[in-house]
Amino acid sequence: MSTEGCPRHRVSWDEYFMNIAREVASRATCDRKHVGAVIVRDKSILATGYNGSIRGLPHCDEEGHLIEDGHCVRTVHAEANAIVQAARHGMRIDGSAIYVTASPCWGCFRLIANAGIVKIVFGEFYRDPKIFDVSQRIGIKLVDFSKMTAKAVEAAKASGPPAA
Ligand SMILES: [Zn+2]
Ligand SMILES: [Zn+2]
Repeated sequence: MSTEGCPRHRVSWDEYFMNIAREVASRATCDRKHVGAVIVRDKSILATGYNGSIRGLPHCDEEGHLIEDGHCVRTVHAEANAIVQAARHGMRIDGSAIYVTASPCWGCFRLIANAGIVKIVFGEFYRDPKIFDVSQRIGIKLVDFSKMTAKAVEAAKASGPPAA
């Protein structure tokens, strides 16, 4: 089969890892929000996580949510589960990046910071604007993927059709 004259969009590394994070999210068990996280260093995946119950306990899908102060507290969050998976497998994540489909809550942000993760790419803003100020203060690079892709689309429009 010839692919001549058929320009192919090759995804960037950021798109690649965010696509995987979205796929990971499809395993989440709390339908209030399905979140996926992928921890990456040197273009390699070190660990993944999605939000789900404590091991051995029923999931929200089975027993309903466990609501406290308007939030479901049954699940361990995606970012925390990715960090836990790295710990269980003895995977060093110091200096890594985390791709997460929704911006980390304050609890997960604190874990990410102390795990030595230096870059967070999030698919959509979820909650807690504190992470913007604090990440700047402690030198964590915080990237809004939706703005990044919007910028790429604008750039592609401005430069016209892709050159051969
Ligand atoms: Zn739930
Ligand atoms: Zn969280």
